[in-house]
Amino acid sequence: MSLGLLLKFERIYMSKGIYMKNKQTQNETIQENRISTEQVQESLVRMFGANNVQTGSETQNHIGLQKTLMASVKVHDRAMLKACLNFAQQNSLSVYPISKGMNIGYGKATPNTNGQLLLDLSAMNRISSYDSSFSSIEIEPGVSQKDLYLYLKEQGNIHMADVTGASPDASILGNTMESGFGHTPLGDHRKNILNMEVMLPNGEIFNTGSFPSYGPDLSGIFVQANFGIVTKIKIPLFRRPEKVLSYVIKFKNEQDMYKALPKLRALRESRVIDSLIHFANPTRVLMSKQRFPEHLSPAQILSEKDCLELLNDSPLKVGFWSGLGGLYGDKDEIKLKKKKLKKQLGKHAQIAFFELKQLNFLRKVCHLPILKDLKLFKNMDLSLKSVIEFSGLLHGIPSSKASDNILWREKSMDELGIRWLCPVIPASEDQIKIFRQVTKEVFRKYSLELPMTLTMINHTQFICILNMNFNKNNPAELTHIDRAYKELYNEYKKLNFKPYRLGVKDTAEDIYDPIKTQILNEIKKAVDPSNMVAPKRYGIG
Ligand SMILES: Cc1cc2nc3c(=O)[nH]c(=O)nc-3n(C[C@H](O)[C@H](O)[C@H](O)COP(=O)(O)OP(=O)(O)OC[C@H]3O[C@@H](n4cnc5c(N)ncnc54)[C@H](O)[C@@H]3O)c2cc1C
Repeated sequence: MSLGLLLKFERIYMSKGIYMKNKQTQNETIQENRISTEQVQESLVRMFGANNVQTGSETQNHIGLQKTLMASVKVHDRAMLKACLNFAQQNSLSVYPISKGMNIGYGKATPNTNGQLLLDLSAMNRISSYDSSFSSIEIEPGVSQKDLYLYLKEQGNIHMADVTGASPDASILGNTMESGFGHTPLGDHRKNILNMEVMLPNGEIFNTGSFPSYGPDLSGIFVQANFGIVTKIKIPLFRRPEKVLSYVIKFKNEQDMYKALPKLRALRESRVIDSLIHFANPTRVLMSKQRFPEHLSPAQILSEKDCLELLNDSPLKVGFWSGLGGLYGDKDEIKLKKKKLKKQLGKHAQIAFFELKQLNFLRKVCHLPILKDLKLFKNMDLSLKSVIEFSGLLHGIPSSKASDNILWREKSMDELGIRWLCPVIPASEDQIKIFRQVTKEVFRKYSLELPMTLTMINHTQFICILNMNFNKNNPAELTHIDRAYKELYNEYKKLNFKPYRLGVKDTAEDIYDPIKTQILNEIKKAVDPSNMVAPKRYGIG
């Protein structure tokens, strides 16, 4: 049966009074659903077919948050999306859109409130309007990092799209909605939107438009918000340069990093450092490479120093801070940038430059029959594998390395509990010191290892990413982590280290100044009067 016929069928049902009438006034928030879950599920199955409707009522995530769902619908196109929104509107339901639902550690596909209808847009996965002259492309919500990488490869590998450290199966659009960030010169996704096609809660579609043009650019108001459902975005692509040279900057200790900070800022501002540079502490490097070492007691909490020692039991030594970045350009440009990096930072840091092909060659050496069983070469092979995967990100090659290595003490993904903290820190010595101090105190108090990255998102700020791992099936561990997380979140709030994005479990009260809160809620009322789309996400509605 066609979708049109099914909808007609539903309308006949409704006119016979099988649905309860929605008596809410336009401005009321939807607080309770007046149609039973079974009725919703039956109707959706009738409308869209059993294949497209999932009726499991609990959401799965890794942050220890239980929310019930009315149902989940696999949406294939705009007409179906519009039908879902109409259905939700008529039955006073809230909806929660996901692109690929891979928001692991922030809430995955879990809405902020119970009883919502999950709209899974992963089947809307068309790639269109690739413009090889003007370096842009349009993608729907279900296009994954891997999909776009393979598509561009097929088109001649002229361009790369930015990639994040998230799974190759994670989406690009959903990541952009969260203001995610990757590794290449186009790494700041909030800044790299050329147009958005949005379906408003009433089913109307509009385009935010491309700029320069007249009037405000509305793309920004749909990022980290709940004003509509984005059905397509146009993003810029990065033309592959003649050469990409990866580098690792190693600071032996914290002090060296502080001494180099003004120079790092200047290099970033003048775009000698043109990619996002990610600094990792030893704990982060170790956790990205392997699970908790088997030869140690699981009760032992590894300090940053312990991790450094474990890592440096290999010929590829790491620093206290190890920063991965890339230089892009033709041979002459790269030569110049390399010289500047060395000149500015060489006094404080060791810098290793390498191309992917060189690392691949070294790995081949490690695999030689006479060497491969020696501990030294085994360790070196493991380290090289990590570096190759992570530097692939600088070339726009998605990697499953970080998601494959997400387990630490947990035995399987079924056990994995993980919460990310993601505060923004001014790129100044004083602020980083204060930040590190408070972070270390809380991690120590709660007996947690401290994996930390500092990504230089621009010349004035770092985004810090920290994770707290736990066994989500152990209620005591969950409570412990919830407490630790909350304490640190509140400490950061006092010190004005604001998160760059929010997890579904984060308290969103008082996060904006009062006038901004008022403006956001007024916009919400104007475009979504019944507060239907993702109520409370980012503290709106
Ligand atoms: C090991 C690991 C590494 C990671 N590395 C990174 C990283 O380097 N950079 C990074 O940014 N993140 C990273 N993440 C976090 C996360 O996995 C990614 O941000 C991922 O891209 C989010 O999942 P998704 O793209 O499937 O988005 P979804 O889960 O589908 O959506 C994310 C959010 O956007 C909203 N949304 C989605 N689609 C729409 C739409 N069409 N319209 C309106 N709203 C929508 C959803 O409601 C949800 O709140 C990492 C996670 C892990 C576990």
